[in-house]
Amino acid sequence: MDPTAGQGPLGGVEHADVLMADGLVTAVGRGLPTPPGTQVIDAAGKLVMPGFVDVHTHLWQSSMRGGCADRDLFGWLAACNRTTFSRITPADMYRFVRLGALDSVQSGVTTLVDWVDALPYDTTVQYVRALTDTRVRFAYAMFQDERGTPLIARTKRELIDPLPLASAQVATHAARPLQGLNRLHWEIARDLGVMLNSHVLERGEQHADDPVRVLTDIGALGPRLLMNHAVHLTDDELAAVAAHDVRVAHCPLSNMRLASGIMRLPDLARRGVKVGLGQDGGTNDTSDVFALMKAAIGLQRARALDPAVFPQVHDVLRIATIGGAEAIGMADRIGSLAPGKCADVIVIDPAALNFAPRFDWVNQVVFNGRPENVHAVFVGGRPLKLGGRLVGVEPDRVVREAEAAAARLRATT
Ligand SMILES: [Zn+2]
Repeated sequence: MDPTAGQGPLGGVEHADVLMADGLVTAVGRGLPTPPGTQVIDAAGKLVMPGFVDVHTHLWQSSMRGGCADRDLFGWLAACNRTTFSRITPADMYRFVRLGALDSVQSGVTTLVDWVDALPYDTTVQYVRALTDTRVRFAYAMFQDERGTPLIARTKRELIDPLPLASAQVATHAARPLQGLNRLHWEIARDLGVMLNSHVLERGEQHADDPVRVLTDIGALGPRLLMNHAVHLTDDELAAVAAHDVRVAHCPLSNMRLASGIMRLPDLARRGVKVGLGQDGGTNDTSDVFALMKAAIGLQRARALDPAVFPQVHDVLRIATIGGAEAIGMADRIGSLAPGKCADVIVIDPAALNFAPRFDWVNQVVFNGRPENVHAVFVGGRPLKLGGRLVGVEPDRVVREAEAAAARLRATT
């Protein structure tokens, strides 16, 4: 993902070694010497690339996979989301987040941004613990109503800051009736030096709430603002997003499932807007970055009737890695395999019924890849998946516990 380090638009290198030490990539190249004490993992014939960056998800929504399948956003929010979230106990929140986080890791996600609605502190403790136990790198975006806003700084200080893999964001939902709260959230984000993370114009009807104008009025338009979805931007709004270097999360599978529309990704790219890809939690039902990338390409082609439309394969691979890192202000640390960056690395094994034979490996990552082709996953140099299996995890037990939690949840409906 660094064109200056290799061939083609993605900077590919054949038959190369990746040397990792102390949680960082220290060298990439052919025939690297092996320092004493180094553990060697033979990846011959395999594809080594930076881990995927999921810039928008809600992991707790694994609690309602498959739910409200015939609803749009508003129907899904009313019948599935709102009726579920507040009833999850702290202990069961751990089980759902753990399930979703492990599913993300097994599909090759090494960094994720979780937008979390207002929770009491004891549930937040369990949410963060599930992410920490999974050892994935994450940004924890917290929403609180006015009374709960002191919890944002407290959570950052007590739960997030001590964790080497974690960072904080402030979550909001920009809308004219919430303008006072949106302003408060922006002030807290500025005080804490973190990003503001808002859902924006997922549905066209939300123009009634004028979210882009609200974000403009409170002074939040800028590189410290991440907009999720942004499907229904007008020309003027799109120009403002580009002019202020606002960051955008594209969630094509969620937008398809909820009949929300097709984001103007080619227009955003033409104006140089930094965009990442997001799974968006339960509306996508599963973590599959390969399906996400394919959808990001396919939606634009289906609309434009033009296979040359943005994004091309190399564009979408970039968006899913270094592009996502840029969108969340972490490109100096993650998103490519370059010396000095975090050793967040995945290994894909193309020797599979759905992947071989070789034609163009880069194209095949996007068009043929599936989570089960992810052979190994490293975050900060630590192996989370090796030989196609999660390390130190009993998936059967995680599933059993999530199943029991779901049964308890349904019993209280
Ligand atoms: Zn969302």
